[in-house]
Amino acid sequence: MKMLHGRFSLPDKPVEECGLFGIYGPGLDVARLTYYGLYALQHRGQESAGIAVGDGKTIQLQKDMGLVSEVFNHKKLSAFNGCLAVGHVRYSTTGASLPVNAQPLVFRYARGMLGLGHNGNLTNIAELRSRLASTGSVFQSTTDSEVIVNLIARYSQNSLVEAIMKCMIDIKGGYSLLMLTEKSLIAVRDPHGIRPLCLGRLGEAHVIASESCALDTVGAEAVRDVEPGEIIIINEGGLASRQALSPCRRAHCIFEYIYFARADSRMDGFNVSRVRREMGRQLAREYPVEADLVIAVPDSGTTAARGYSDVSGIPFEEGLMKNRYIGRTFIQPSQNVRDLGVRLKLNPIRDVLAGKRVVMVDDSIVRGTTSGKIVAMLRECGVKEVHFCLSSPPVIRSCYYGIDTSNEDELIAARKPVEEIRRLIDADGLYYLSLDGLLGVFGDRRDYFCTACFSGDYPVEMPRLQDGGKYVLESC
Ligand code: SF4
Repeated sequence: MKMLHGRFSLPDKPVEECGLFGIYGPGLDVARLTYYGLYALQHRGQESAGIAVGDGKTIQLQKDMGLVSEVFNHKKLSAFNGCLAVGHVRYSTTGASLPVNAQPLVFRYARGMLGLGHNGNLTNIAELRSRLASTGSVFQSTTDSEVIVNLIARYSQNSLVEAIMKCMIDIKGGYSLLMLTEKSLIAVRDPHGIRPLCLGRLGEAHVIASESCALDTVGAEAVRDVEPGEIIIINEGGLASRQALSPCRRAHCIFEYIYFARADSRMDGFNVSRVRREMGRQLAREYPVEADLVIAVPDSGTTAARGYSDVSGIPFEEGLMKNRYIGRTFIQPSQNVRDLGVRLKLNPIRDVLAGKRVVMVDDSIVRGTTSGKIVAMLRECGVKEVHFCLSSPPVIRSCYYGIDTSNEDELIAARKPVEEIRRLIDADGLYYLSLDGLLGVFGDRRDYFCTACFSGDYPVEMPRLQDGGKYVLESC
């Protein structure tokens, strides 16, 4: 369980990376719109929030640890003045939960000011950092975002776009970047498209966000996804696009569809809710079970559970109630009341469940620390049989591209066969959606995805082991 600045995320789920929102909108209240955009992306990071605003001459920055609503208030937002903004919500994938790592990062370099918000992880960060340090660079944070800014500054004899292109040749991994200068908004997506980024329009203004739900929230119309390897530059001259790196194997993170993204988002041509429902349908095709009810572990399993019900004909019922006011974060219980963690968040509805055989659908099991507690709660309510269905394959490998899926030795499916996990969590059946079935949901675009945490097929080289046998991955 990972402490987050006095908060914690519920165990047994991979943890989101970061959320980006940017706008170029002369005449609009860009700071407030960015605030609302970040609010829509809060599920992608709850550790820190920041907004940087450009006014043509300088960049103002405010950022701090905490949720968007805690970091900003009316007074702070009113202090901003400008025509373009970049906002960021962060969850760090390693332990560096420090104010100095909050983003956007804003620097002065030879060509003026540069702000950067980053979602993802670089896999060659250790080599880049040591190369830069050996030639005089100093770092004030532990994020790889700062390495990116340093590289761009190194190439400042070129135009900014050329400097970014050279930087993109150096960096490896999964990343989406939003940058601002005093006058321009710049969006960058890694050449595999691992991390999401989309473009929208709000009247004359241009908006860029990690997920389309943020475009919807500010009333912007979704235009398209930022292409893998593309740089988009928006300023008073309008919008320009450069294909900085040649297209290579597409590898959109498939876990965005399974769990991370908001169900109302549309990514790379697919609506997340529809994809999740189809995953549930496929699950029912692969594992037909005789049962009285289909229930979900809310909210992550709800849409797939409805899909399972569609195909099986078994009625879907709300069997577990989620305390929505806790959200994804709350004060961590002390060790001796750790079991309360699940009960504080989920409560079974005894009148619905008693005496029933249930199919319970969730999106994934990562460490296996929660599932057994949920099954035990159901049994205490008099449930006769619990068939636990997952709308993803077993998570057997770590992610190096910006998602915290834990170390491999903590992943229960990497260590134990399915039957042993079933016994451990005391379910009557345990069924994982097959990788083939998962990819089949995407039809003729089944090859467009990173599935490395299920298959070990990493689209970008993995980071090298550092001293002490640890990988160095610092960013969000
Ligand atoms: Fe997403 Fe898994 Fe690939 Fe990481 S390894 S980018 S979580 S699919």
